[in-house]
Amino acid sequence: METEAGSDVLVIGGGVVGLTTAVVLAERGVRVRLWTRDPVERTTSAVAGALWWPYRIEPVAAARAWALRSLEVYEELAERPGTTGVRMVEGVLGETALDEVDAWAAARLPGLREATAGEYPAGSGVWARLPLIDMSTHLPWLRDRLLAAGGAVETRTVADFAQADAPVVVNCAGLGARELVPDPSVRPVRGQLVVVENPGIDTWTVSTGADGEMAYFFPQPGRLVLGGTAEEGVWSLEPDPAVAEAIVRRCAALRPEIAGARVLEHRVGLRPARDTVRLEREPLADGRLLVHDYGHGGAGVTVAWGCAEEAAGLAAR
Ligand SMILES: Cc1cc2nc3c(=O)[nH]c(=O)nc-3n(C[C@H](O)[C@H](O)[C@H](O)COP(=O)(O)OP(=O)(O)OC[C@H]3O[C@@H](n4cnc5c(N)ncnc54)[C@H](O)[C@@H]3O)c2cc1C
Repeated sequence: METEAGSDVLVIGGGVVGLTTAVVLAERGVRVRLWTRDPVERTTSAVAGALWWPYRIEPVAAARAWALRSLEVYEELAERPGTTGVRMVEGVLGETALDEVDAWAAARLPGLREATAGEYPAGSGVWARLPLIDMSTHLPWLRDRLLAAGGAVETRTVADFAQADAPVVVNCAGLGARELVPDPSVRPVRGQLVVVENPGIDTWTVSTGADGEMAYFFPQPGRLVLGGTAEEGVWSLEPDPAVAEAIVRRCAALRPEIAGARVLEHRVGLRPARDTVRLEREPLADGRLLVHDYGHGGAGVTVAWGCAEEAAGLAAR
């Protein structure tokens, strides 16, 4: 039952949280299998924009620590953007004061300053250079890194932890934890995005928008990702055309050239929200160890590596 090199850990979940956890374990010499209900392309993680920034995640202090650890990893991965999908990109955090960021991240974010009126005509904001992750490249790259470290990935749905035949099981099922654990405190926060042809924008912006609604755009290779919504308790995965129009309108209010951009795709994802991330051990009645790592809300990409290292530590006993 010892979790040492050669013994078994089964990770449930193949989104960014499960994949990074499995990678950390496998690269520490642990024999890891990962079971996922969905292929990486159909996870919530694949929908994300994805900007490194702790948004809609609790507890705040722990999330900041996980985010800062993940920042170190993303900065390294950004040295190989074509392979990893991670780039360091400049942009504006609108309606954010410099001292809000100063309190926890300024020392780690060189070049952080107030945005000029030209950079953010909508109001006051902070100019920052942050990791921007193209999940369509990053998730397959994580899966390949896991396989290269000796891990195995299988498409399997787990109905009960008793089915997970390993001495140590790590639950990274995201919103799936609601049924699997079961944990009714995990709930969806629906996010809708519009992907358009990039009209030549190479910086990102996050804003609360003129009408107080969230608006953001992220330049990704070959496209611009426009967001977004955060609808508590809504389960629909169908893109709503009226919502899509409103997203384009709010983003075009920030950058008029977005108004005429050709729409390439509509995306919807359900953030796995919880009052706080659940990252803890739970001994199973049969003597096996279960580690939970789910409920990362709107920031699973941002905190993934910090959480993965903590979960891997909890899985070692
Ligand atoms: C529109 C939108 C924009 C976002 N933008 C950002 C952003 O800019 N930055 C950021 O950091 N975060 C962002 N997020 C949040 C981020 O996407 C999530 O926090 C993150 O994807 C959660 O990762 P996860 O691995 O826990 O969950 P998921 O990606 O949902 O993965 C869960 C995995 O568990 C598997 N699973 C579930 N149940 C079972 C079961 N019973 N048996 C087997 N497998 C199971 C699923 O198949 C899947 O593989 C955004 C989210 C949305 C929706």
